[in-house]
Amino acid sequence: MSDLTSLTLKAALDGLADKSFSSAEITQAHIEAVEAARALNAYVLETPDRALEMARASDQRRASGNAGPLEGAPLGIKDLFCTEGVRTTAASKILENFVPAYESTVTANLWRDGAVMLGKLNMDQFAMGSSNETSCFGNVVNPWRAEGGNAELTPGGSSGGSAAAVAAELCLGATATDTGGSIRQPAAFTGTVGIKPTYGRCSRWGVVAFASSLDQAGPMARTVEDAAILLTSMSGHDPKDSTSLPVETPDFARFVGKSVKGLRIGVPKEYRVDNMPAEIDALWEQGIAWLKEAGCEIVEVSLPHTKYALPAYYIVAPAEASSNLARYDGMRYGLRVDGGNLIDTYEQSRAQGFGEEVKRRLMIGTYVLSAGYYDAYYLKALKVRRRIADDFDQAWQTCDALLTPTAPSAAFQLGDKSNDPVAMYLNDIFTVTVNLAGLPGMSVPAGLDANGLPLGLQLIGRALDEGTLFSLGGALEKAADFRAKPRKWW
Ligand code: GLN
Repeated sequence: MSDLTSLTLKAALDGLADKSFSSAEITQAHIEAVEAARALNAYVLETPDRALEMARASDQRRASGNAGPLEGAPLGIKDLFCTEGVRTTAASKILENFVPAYESTVTANLWRDGAVMLGKLNMDQFAMGSSNETSCFGNVVNPWRAEGGNAELTPGGSSGGSAAAVAAELCLGATATDTGGSIRQPAAFTGTVGIKPTYGRCSRWGVVAFASSLDQAGPMARTVEDAAILLTSMSGHDPKDSTSLPVETPDFARFVGKSVKGLRIGVPKEYRVDNMPAEIDALWEQGIAWLKEAGCEIVEVSLPHTKYALPAYYIVAPAEASSNLARYDGMRYGLRVDGGNLIDTYEQSRAQGFGEEVKRRLMIGTYVLSAGYYDAYYLKALKVRRRIADDFDQAWQTCDALLTPTAPSAAFQLGDKSNDPVAMYLNDIFTVTVNLAGLPGMSVPAGLDANGLPLGLQLIGRALDEGTLFSLGGALEKAADFRAKPRKWW
């Protein structure tokens, strides 16, 4: 029954609807695929019993004529989303035994629509990282390998488990989150589609917080249409998140396949960075040509503050993290390491519970918020953030969406950058601007590099204009006709 796992979400929903197979059958096929793929380390918790129970309940709902939009579809959930009664760790030792008493709004929306949970997906610890190597469960391995090579590659991060699971057909789609690129960069590294919607489109309630003003949930999937179907279910106003936008959710799938004729596509000149591999530049040119052929008008735009985006992000995100992660004190959640007194217990719990990268961020964040440095760093970074958002506002005067590469490289080898945080942070160069400005951004697989590894192109849109991104993403997907799959070695 392994072919059930290679269906797109859309095809699976159609097959379930016309009773070609049941949810129990397609769920079982996925459970077996997940068990056979443990070498990838994509799942940190498999929940097969729960999955089959959900699948059988789904089959019953369908039989009684109550099928939801995702009825019976088995999905993977990033371990940053709280799942009621199911361990949720954010891939950190400090939450190793945390079993939430509540469900995140995004996952609740998926279950409301009939989806089935296969388990929880690996990730960088607290979503801090670009390679999945900060997970307390060990890194995920990218299902893709370079042609003729056996080196293990990163699936990207922080949503590396989501990306690997989708690429290796261990779920029909997955949830992910993106604070500075964590949906889009892993999508690019694994030949999958990922969209970070507009800030406020998806509720953050029940998503373990990293940097609250930047965090957004979004889907990862194997096609643009599948991503649209998932985002439609995940989105919606939620009174439990004060930053959730009180707007209607369009049926995003209706935008896929729509003509993009006449749309003006901006190409930001500041994204032509030094040392970018020629292949990525060539793919970008190819993407421009594809959109031109589809009837778009190409315009050059300038986002002059781009060069300050990474430094600003790596101040704002750690600052917010240092505040959000203050709650892990050994008293209320997860790990407690008993010390000689209260302060010692706090210190030892945090020292043993948090990983190295998380501690680095907490120290940076505490420093930039401290008296005397607040104005020099944090406040300055907020001002830069405003400028970056203004740059995009300017760009929207002359274009409807932007096209850029998603990441400055293809998937790199595990271990390559793990000792050099700055090199790791540079991977986020094309993605962090979008979070700082709160805009939607999508990565679409567009081609392979000379080593046979996938590369992605990024589309950036106006706030709440995900619809246009889905139309453009659909056009790119069609033109690129990306069908490559990782060769199965696991
Ligand atoms: N790589 C970035 C970071 O480490 C982005 C992470 C994310 O989007 N969650 O902060």
